[in-house]
Amino acid sequence: MDFTWTPEQIELRERARQVASNAVAVYGRHNDSWINGFSKEFAREMAAQGWIGMTWPKEFGGGGRPPLERLIVGEEMIKAGAPVAAMWFADRQMGPSLITYGRPDQQAEFLPKILSGETTWCIGMSEPDAGSDLAALKTSAIRDGDSWVINGQKIWTSFGEVADYCYLICRTSMEGPPHAGISEIIVPMDTPGIEVRPIKDMTTNRHFCEVFYTDVRVPVDNLVGVEGAAFKQTMRQLEHERGGIDRLVSNYALYQIALEQADRSDPVVRQEIAALEIGYRIGRLLVIREVLRQAPTGFSAATKCFGTEHEVRVAEFVARTFGAQATLWDPLTQGLIYAPGYTIMGGTSNVMRNILGERVLGLPRS
Ligand SMILES: Cc1cc2nc3c(=O)[nH]c(=O)nc-3n(C[C@H](O)[C@H](O)[C@H](O)COP(=O)(O)OP(=O)(O)OC[C@H]3O[C@@H](n4cnc5c(N)ncnc54)[C@H](O)[C@@H]3O)c2cc1C
Repeated sequence: MDFTWTPEQIELRERARQVASNAVAVYGRHNDSWINGFSKEFAREMAAQGWIGMTWPKEFGGGGRPPLERLIVGEEMIKAGAPVAAMWFADRQMGPSLITYGRPDQQAEFLPKILSGETTWCIGMSEPDAGSDLAALKTSAIRDGDSWVINGQKIWTSFGEVADYCYLICRTSMEGPPHAGISEIIVPMDTPGIEVRPIKDMTTNRHFCEVFYTDVRVPVDNLVGVEGAAFKQTMRQLEHERGGIDRLVSNYALYQIALEQADRSDPVVRQEIAALEIGYRIGRLLVIREVLRQAPTGFSAATKCFGTEHEVRVAEFVARTFGAQATLWDPLTQGLIYAPGYTIMGGTSNVMRNILGERVLGLPRS
């Protein structure tokens, strides 16, 4: 196994580092920048660099580039805190979903506007009574002539307030077992009947929202893939969501700040730093295995679990290093208070362990 980066990869990393550093100078440094650093302008810059849809096949307008190149660019952007949030969800999962399951007319309509950095997408999965257990979702889409009529409530919809489209997971049939009857529908967020209520969390972020759908009408053509059989599609989408570098380096910038401050003459601190450095390297190898598609199916749950638990350990190290000061400096406090979210968003660690045990290792259910 050769872990050496090629000269082209090294050059790309340098260029990405430069672009990220310029972005931080212009837009400021963001903690968890793939979800908290929102800039449409920078999304367009990413597009101009060819860094949206880098790995999508060329026939869909993508770069057709190796997945390691996307990992390099993403890693440098998020480590530096560059504001990639406006394009991140669409690049990571909506585009790949549309390429796999969308019709040619949908691909022609939606992919170019993602690739140009023009459109932001949000993901409408979670509901007040359906988070980990997605099959319990109740938001319904009932066919009426040429339209779907959507009613229900979603919650924790990141970018609900600013997104152009929602990739909505909803129920088009009440028949059969809970996993049946689920469909994916593209909903333009300016459709009448949608009410968005941003939720201000304790860090003062307000990226996620409650979204209420009351008799929202969208064309029947907005259904993606197979009507009533989208549970498998959604699980595939979650694979894109879980195994990436964004689940490992969200608070890397805070780690760097703490590293400068830490008392490295203290053997306990040295051990802690060594453990974090090793954790980061293991996490990176797991992510590399995911992006190269060398991991077993479903293993992205374990990669997500490992990466996000590493991020929580980083936050604990930062808190211990700064002590009471950690509560007095806004960028630090915001980053630390946000940390419990890492092991919840995208699926909780408990649920990730269930997937690993049941689907990957084939252990019996208790
Ligand atoms: C920062 C952030 C951003 C988010 N963005 C989005 C978004 O854009 N779109 C979206 O749709 N959702 C989003 N979410 C929601 C997220 O996906 C859910 O919070 C998550 O899936 C957990 O669901 P829940 O909150 O309903 O918790 P629940 O499912 O109610 O879980 C509560 C507790 O029970 C445990 N638990 C539940 N089921 C099991 C089980 N079978 N075995 C063992 N333990 C279990 C969980 O681990 C957890 O500790 C976001 C969440 C966060 C924190």
